[in-house]
Amino acid sequence: MFLNLTEVLTNEEKVVTMQTETQITQVTVSGETYPGHALSPVSFVFTNTGRGKAVIEAKAAFVFTAACDRCLKSVEQEITLRFTREVWAPDASSDPAVYEEQPFMDGFTLDVEDLLISEIVTSWPMKILCKPDCKGICPTCGRDLNTGTCDCDHFVPDPRMAAIKDIFEAEREV
Ligand SMILES: [Zn+2]
Ligand SMILES: [Zn+2]
Repeated sequence: MFLNLTEVLTNEEKVVTMQTETQITQVTVSGETYPGHALSPVSFVFTNTGRGKAVIEAKAAFVFTAACDRCLKSVEQEITLRFTREVWAPDASSDPAVYEEQPFMDGFTLDVEDLLISEIVTSWPMKILCKPDCKGICPTCGRDLNTGTCDCDHFVPDPRMAAIKDIFEAEREV
């Protein structure tokens, strides 16, 4: 979806409110692709804030399917966006940095998907869990530990204790 922002960028104090559908069907974060879609139309408010300058306020909600980091079960991950971004008309700013910060703009045209995808990637959670206390899968037998326990040894040696043990063993060898 492309939106022409000429009107709001060239008319001082102009405010444009609109809702738009997006065609986002997936998002790629750190090389992983997750299918998903918008939960509702995206709300935009465009406000002229000076000569050739405007502020974009956006509200959107998406749901993506991802695997739980611990047990790999498929989970629906909701991403709610609420953000503001300043945009400039071509040649309105003499600072090239402002144009580097708006790769989703091509002249006066806003690429809605480009803007939203960069915001989704930024707000992607560090950890995806099916539930906060997911016990994960046993690394030895592969059993889902949320459904019961297994007989494998889950003892993880404390690396500091292991170092002390090494010292004792080294002394014994002398
Ligand atoms: Zn899980
Ligand atoms: Zn096991």
